[in-house]
Amino acid sequence: MTNDNCIFCHIASGEISTKKLFENDDFFIIEDIAPVAKYHYLAIPKSHYPTLDTMENKDREVLGSIFATIGTLTEKLSLQNGYRLIINQGEDAGQTVFHLHIHIIAGQKMNFPHFKR
Ligand code: 5GP
Ligand code: ZN
Repeated sequence: MTNDNCIFCHIASGEISTKKLFENDDFFIIEDIAPVAKYHYLAIPKSHYPTLDTMENKDREVLGSIFATIGTLTEKLSLQNGYRLIINQGEDAGQTVFHLHIHIIAGQKMNFPHFKR
């Protein structure tokens, strides 16, 4: 499932050339174009799901596989000292690309965000 207007689908297909740090049948990992920390990667499923809640049950295991695989890439991605995984879901979270992706942030100490209510 792909979407012609989606930047991450174009990266997935190779139409937009971007260095993939990891790739398997289900997802790939690239560097974020605008890093918010020393290391900032995106784990992106190859199938186009705009948001978490648009995933079909049969595809949800891709998420488990992404989490488990990240744990095997600590050296390659320099995650030895820890990392943070983030999914921005929808407007309130500031999601800007509506193709599900997981941010992997690492390489420095991080404060836990707190928000003004
Ligand atoms: P969101 O705000 O939707 O959670 O995150 C989208 C992320 O995708 C942002 O951190 C943004 O910098 C990144 N991004 C947007 N377009 C591109 C692109 O063309 N290439 C790469 N590598 N990252 C992108
Ligand atoms: Zn897409």
